[in-house]
Amino acid sequence: MKRGFYVGRFQPYHNGHQTVLKHIAGKVDEIIIGVGSAQLSHQVDNPFTAGERVLMITRSLHDLGCPCYVIPIEDIQRNALWVAHVRSMAPPFDICYSSNPLVVQLFRDAGIKVQSPAMYERDLLSGTEIRNRMLAGKSWEKLVPPEVVQVIKEIDGVKRLRQIARED
Ligand code: NAD
Repeated sequence: MKRGFYVGRFQPYHNGHQTVLKHIAGKVDEIIIGVGSAQLSHQVDNPFTAGERVLMITRSLHDLGCPCYVIPIEDIQRNALWVAHVRSMAPPFDICYSSNPLVVQLFRDAGIKVQSPAMYERDLLSGTEIRNRMLAGKSWEKLVPPEVVQVIKEIDGVKRLRQIARED
């Protein structure tokens, strides 16, 4: 039984994340997805709650063909202790997949094997780009799985983002 760990903020979960997870699903028996910065929501850079992000991910992965556990993980003040914090919250895992340089460094320092998946269409497939498009009233729906469009509609997420971006 080989378990892989994949962490992100997923603000929102998009097609780049989905492509990486399809790749990881072919390499391990089970996947743990850590929803990072779980304590943050209702901010321009972090509009969605941990629960909303869990919903986006869980619904998008229904036909992945690999069991997935989606675990919210709050940030902590000390980077040097973060991997121990992650391990205390997640089922045991053998390998971490991340392309975030800080995440890669912290897991390697903790003696855990890390692989960095390739980036897909980074200019378009980024949370910043998608949030900017939502704010500007441009199309963003094709950059995320259809289940994510559905969740964001259900929670009126674009309206929330525009509201919190307004100046008083
Ligand atoms: P993210 O949602 O930006 O990205 C998640 C993963 O997807 C990353 O590996 C990223 O490289 C990859 N990705 C993004 N766009 C992609 C694309 N187009 N194609 C392929 N892959 C793509 O999240 P993140 O910033 O990497 O999340 C790391 C989380 O870990 C954050 O929540 C951060 O706060 C947390 N963290 C916390 C501490 C602490 O609490 N001390 C320390 C380190 C990290």
